[in-house]
Amino acid sequence: MKATDLLLVTLVASLATFVAIQASASKGTEQHGDLAFAGRVSADNAVPDRDTAALPIAFAAGLAEERASARSHFVPDVPRPAPWPAADLRDRLTQQQAGTYIDALLAARDSVLTRWPERLITPLRVWIGDGGTLDGWDPNFPRTVRDAFDAWADTGIPLRFTYVRDSIDADVRVRFVAQFPQGISGRTIWSRDTASWLVGGEIDLAIAHPRGDVVSEGQLHAIALHEVGHLLGLDHVDDPEHIMAPKVRARSLSDADRATVRLLYSVPAGSARE
Ligand SMILES: [Zn+2]
Repeated sequence: MKATDLLLVTLVASLATFVAIQASASKGTEQHGDLAFAGRVSADNAVPDRDTAALPIAFAAGLAEERASARSHFVPDVPRPAPWPAADLRDRLTQQQAGTYIDALLAARDSVLTRWPERLITPLRVWIGDGGTLDGWDPNFPRTVRDAFDAWADTGIPLRFTYVRDSIDADVRVRFVAQFPQGISGRTIWSRDTASWLVGGEIDLAIAHPRGDVVSEGQLHAIALHEVGHLLGLDHVDDPEHIMAPKVRARSLSDADRATVRLLYSVPAGSARE
């Protein structure tokens, strides 16, 4: 890993996914600093066949932190529409909210919408690292992650992804790690500008659960879908039928996942706060 990869841009908000596979009912741990985790695991979530059963994922709250003079993303000069007055934004979201969980997103984010600017002509450059030296590595994993990105692009939002070979050239970097010490399986950190437009993102995906067993392709796909959802600006919704549920049971995007991201990308980034 290059030293510059560790530098994040000035305003960083963190989202993480917390997977726990312990059989005992326990409260999640809390961690302060960059990432705050709050998870709950129950015995019901101990899954003998994790491809068909629930994948217990809990959530970490978003934080913002100032990191002066650190910059690791080249931000292309793509148009960013002017913000709407908060009342107009609120009205539009209210009119269009049927079939979405935009209300949960607004509640989680203090009514501030964060999204990428349109990237159809200049696709978002995604770099997916190689985990070839990790125990349990499956050469299909990078393709599984690309499939997760493409599933979101296929919702019709004004974003396209291109996969680049050099991390320096990337807007979004995905790294595989063996496992996280804290019992998480994925983590997304995004960077935004002062107008709430996203400008960069980092996703880390563990290929082994904290106990040591390797994730299946189906699990990795679901975790990647969930993390990319965060990367696009989504937050959690309670209903387990959606990929953005804090405990991911879904294996693909629901109609509401698609409708919510389309609604988010039909308005400019900015605040809808009263
Ligand atoms: Zn999450």
